[in-house]
Order: sequence, then structure tokens, then C-alpha cells
Amino acid sequence: FLKGKRALITGSTSGIGLAIARALREEGAEIVLNGLGDPDEIEKVRQELDADFNGANLLDPAAIEAMMGEVGHVDILVNNAGMQHVSPVEDFPTDKWDAIIALNLTAAFHTSRLAVPGMKEKGWGRIINTASAHSLTASPFKSAYNASKHAIAGFTKTIALELAQTGVTANCISPGYVWTPLIEGQIPDTMAARGLSREEVINDVLLAKQPTKKFVQPEEVSALAAFLCREEAGNVTGANWSIDGGWTAE
Ligand code: NAD
Repeated sequence: FLKGKRALITGSTSGIGLAIARALREEGAEIVLNGLGDPDEIEKVRQELDADFNGANLLDPAAIEAMMGEVGHVDILVNNAGMQHVSPVEDFPTDKWDAIIALNLTAAFHTSRLAVPGMKEKGWGRIINTASAHSLTASPFKSAYNASKHAIAGFTKTIALELAQTGVTANCISPGYVWTPLIEGQIPDTMAARGLSREEVINDVLLAKQPTKKFVQPEEVSALAAFLCREEAGNVTGANWSIDGGWTAE
């Protein structure tokens, strides 16, 4: 159902973004990949999906502008690239704070402001932002991440209202813990911040949050993203879709 549509997915060289790229490709969309990583691995994925690739570093607004110029019109924009850092606020490295806000929040502002005029002109568009359960609730030691994710939820609602009569929707998807390199990477810092073993972090911190006691799968998140691109989802806008094993129901 996405034949003839072009989709840019940021942070799609790994994890959730890659799963979303695969799901939208499956429905026939032309894919533009973005992200960092090993060039050989990226080339493999690019070929698998018959996709374009743009390696812009989204920490840099000038690089985002250049990327949006090179990519041209996109019908579907998935702002998914994100990073995490776990530390008590008094020790939180200020450069990490700036980078997390720049990637998780400001990059989505820039891609959206540059994609919206083309979507409005066509009278059709889908903006999907990967937020987080941490857009709705907080956990300690993640001050920058939680601030950025609460903010992206507010940004998404705002543009949904601005675009409500244009055929362009804007929604957040808010996963709980999904087993990806981002989660693996925060385990050592969480062990240090809380004085726990690896097993304790997985069972007593991460899965303790999710009543289902299961990690969310990237393919479950990508199926929801694909749904939001359907015609039937034209009236779904300004929403924040939880996919968190019941975490935020508690
Ligand atoms: P991941 O680390 O597997 O993937 C992150 C992607 O972002 C990669 O493709 C990486 O190359 C890209 N990226 C990182 N820095 C970049 C930069 N400066 N410029 C361009 N691309 C950059 O992580 P993931 O778990 O798949 O996370 C994807 C999104 O989902 C993030 O926004 C994250 O906050 C969110 N999320 C993840 C979880 C989880 O449990 N994994 C839960 C809720 C929300």
C-alpha cells in the first residue's frame, strides 16, 4: 500500500529504525536510510532494501539541511535516531546533555520543518517520531533523555495541530524496553549508577518496568509504524502510541 511513496527513516542502520525501514519497504515504499556505522554493513542493508543512503550526522543542523536537499521530497518522515546517557544529574556531562537534546529533539525539528512544505503541497504526508515510554514517565539518571522525549511528544502534538487540515499526520510511537544496541549500551552505566550486576539490571530495572516481563521486539514497533502510514490512519494524528508491555498503564 506504499507503492510510489518515498520514506526517510533517520537512524535506520540499526535497531528500531532498521526494522521500520524493512517494514515500509515490504509495503512497497522507496527507502532512504540514514545513520552511522560500519560502511560495509550499511552497504549490505542498502542493497537488501534497494534503498538510498545518506550518512548525515544529525547532531549538525547544516548536515541535516544538506541531507534534506539531497534526498528531495519525502512522503514519510520517520524521526527515529536517538541516543542515551545514564548518569546522576550532578555528574551528567554537559556535552552529553547537548548532544542528546540535539539528536533526540532538535534534529526532528529540522527534518520536519524542511519536509513539511513538500508534504503540504502534495496533500499527503506521514511524520512518525520514535519517542519512548520516557515521553510519558521518568526513570532516574536519564535526565537528558527523558527531557528530550517529553519534548518530542509536545513537538509532535503541536505540528499535528498545525497540519490537521493538510492530509499530513504526525504521531509518536513510544516503546518500552526494546532489545537493541541502545539498551545493551546503557547496561554498564546503569550497573555503575545503581551498584547492580548485569542480570540485576536486566531483571530488576529494565524488565521490572514491563508487566509483560518481555522486551518489545523491533518488528512490533515497525508494524505499528506501517499502520500509521495507511490511508485508514488518516484521522490518527497528534497521538502518542505506547508499545511498552503495560509499563505506562501502572
Ligand atoms: P540503536 O542504537 O540501535 O539505533 C540508533 C540509530 O541512530 C542508529 O542507526 C545510529 O547509527 C543512529 N544515530 C546515532 N547517532 C546518530 C547521529 N549523530 N546522526 C545520525 N544517526 C545517528 O537504537 P534503537 O534502540 O533502535 O533506538 C532508536 C530510537 O528508539 C531512539 O530514538 C530511541 O531513543 C528510541 N527508543 C528505544 C528504546 C529501546 O528500548 N531500544 C525504547 C524507547 C525508545
